[in-house]
Amino acid sequence: MSRNRKCPPVIPALPTLDTPNMPGALCAGQAPLHDFEIHNEYTRARRVRHAQAVAWCSYCAELPVCRAWAANTPRDELDGVIAGTVYPTPGSAAYRAEIGQEVAA
Ligand code: SF4
Repeated sequence: MSRNRKCPPVIPALPTLDTPNMPGALCAGQAPLHDFEIHNEYTRARRVRHAQAVAWCSYCAELPVCRAWAANTPRDELDGVIAGTVYPTPGSAAYRAEIGQEVAA
């Protein structure tokens, strides 16, 4: 292999077509604050974190845009705290309870 070999061109990630541009999003760079679950997180700690995330959303300039996007997005594509609402991860026990499916004991 030649040392002068050029690097392959960088292919930019394709933008998700249905995600709005929200340059003022307060959640940007704050992961995992808005995640639904964090591995090994205590339930009480998760509730506190969700409350913090909901509070951040309430101060976010993008809240109206974000809320409209969430309202027009299928529920099984929503995960975490979005526009001040907590959406359990699709497939999780909390999600199944939310949609009325029985949760195995
Ligand atoms: S409203 Fe909440 S989830 Fe939506 S962009 Fe703002 S901080 Fe992020």
